[in-house]
Amino acid sequence: MNNGKFNFIADMHTHTVASTHAYSTITENAVWCSQNGIKYLGMTDHGVSMQDAPDTWHFENLKILPEYLSGVRIFRGIEANIIDTDGNIDIYPEKEAIYYNILEWVNVSLHVQVFKPATKADHTKAYLNLLKNKYVDVICHSEALKYDYDFDAVTKACAEQGRLIELNECRLERGVNSAERYKRILESCEKNGTSIIVSSDAHFYTHIGKFPLSEKLLKETRFPEELIINTSEDRLLGYIESRKKRIGKDI
Ligand SMILES: [Zn+2]
Ligand SMILES: [Zn+2]
Repeated sequence: MNNGKFNFIADMHTHTVASTHAYSTITENAVWCSQNGIKYLGMTDHGVSMQDAPDTWHFENLKILPEYLSGVRIFRGIEANIIDTDGNIDIYPEKEAIYYNILEWVNVSLHVQVFKPATKADHTKAYLNLLKNKYVDVICHSEALKYDYDFDAVTKACAEQGRLIELNECRLERGVNSAERYKRILESCEKNGTSIIVSSDAHFYTHIGKFPLSEKLLKETRFPEELIINTSEDRLLGYIESRKKRIGKDI
């Protein structure tokens, strides 16, 4: 339980101009983070199936970025798309080796442009199968009603496999009934001991690391802070360590 103010140190779901409906560069994002107490920044532009996505070259070339910009640790990431109920994502077999060698953070989402909303059972199946992919870190903005799923089954599987559920500030700001849906997801996470991460999904730098609606919801629901990955450097770095073990690689 937390009655004070959360101290967020990371924002692991942000976009840059590489996704064409976002408007800031990685340099602008990093400078903003350095001025606002955000020490870890996930650069997670859209996987190639989205209309606004960069080419595969974008991801293959992420390795040229410095590890730190303005003192902020930059994680080379992606917001990949689930493409089917088998839980496949738009990191295709011929690119897997290259991508997974470079990517340090893998957010995954259901987007209408890529995955046609289906039944609750189908969405649940897609999420559960997704977790067979050891590189996947976070299930993002899963509160959308059109992608209803079995919260209990999926959050339980995430807890068992050490994966994260996202609380997405942008959805709380703009989504329909998002707060109500997230309340139920958070209940399931608390029940199953599932860790969450709070992210901005920023498409412009001034939104990075700002989570007023998420904070409000976390306080209303008295969500246990020990399950929030990005309010503690220890928890975030602990997760990164467990990720390295999971994928069998020292990144
Ligand atoms: Zn998204
Ligand atoms: Zn996004």
